[in-house]
Amino acid sequence: MLYALPVQELIDELGRLPGIGPRSAQRIAFHLLRVDEVDARRLSAAIVALKERVGFCEICWNIAEGTRCETCADERRDGSIICVVEEPKDVIALERTGEFRGRYHVLQGAINPIDGIGPDQLRVKELLERLQNSEVEEVVLCTNPNLEGEATAMYLARLLGPLGLRVTRIASGLPVGGDLEYADELTLGRALEGRREVGTRQASDPQGDA
Ligand SMILES: [Zn+2]
Repeated sequence: MLYALPVQELIDELGRLPGIGPRSAQRIAFHLLRVDEVDARRLSAAIVALKERVGFCEICWNIAEGTRCETCADERRDGSIICVVEEPKDVIALERTGEFRGRYHVLQGAINPIDGIGPDQLRVKELLERLQNSEVEEVVLCTNPNLEGEATAMYLARLLGPLGLRVTRIASGLPVGGDLEYADELTLGRALEGRREVGTRQASDPQGDA
């Protein structure tokens, strides 16, 4: 026996969401079937509003209502320093520390060969374009302290090295293998303060010591 079509369609759609398996999809669908119509409508309206009103910032690729995010629209932010992060949630985490007054660049992911994510799937090209003829003096690599985040930071350090900018990486002290968003404000604030210059002139790059 099959479920009524609208139920099955909802289960299928929910099952496409990250972290939701078939059993969870079924449980959520039956939950929605039971809730008041006004609650279900509020959820569907929130999804529609999200798609209609929110997109990505044309400068830093953070979430934005309109063409620019709050940080990029804020004239008081320091344009000489850019913090490169993986996801919009990392911007929130760094803003919570109150330690950073510069601007951001959101890669929208990290290098992960297993999932087929390379630099071309990330906002790397956009970062390079942004750094052309800009007032940026320092790029802080604030990717997560896990395998993918470190690989991404190393890749960017090598890529940005020849541009003559100061390239730094947030200090260790963050839980290794963790996510920036789970670090408390104090730890993250200290990691930012204790950032170190990244050795962009690799031993494997003989042209680098010119
Ligand atoms: Zn922005």
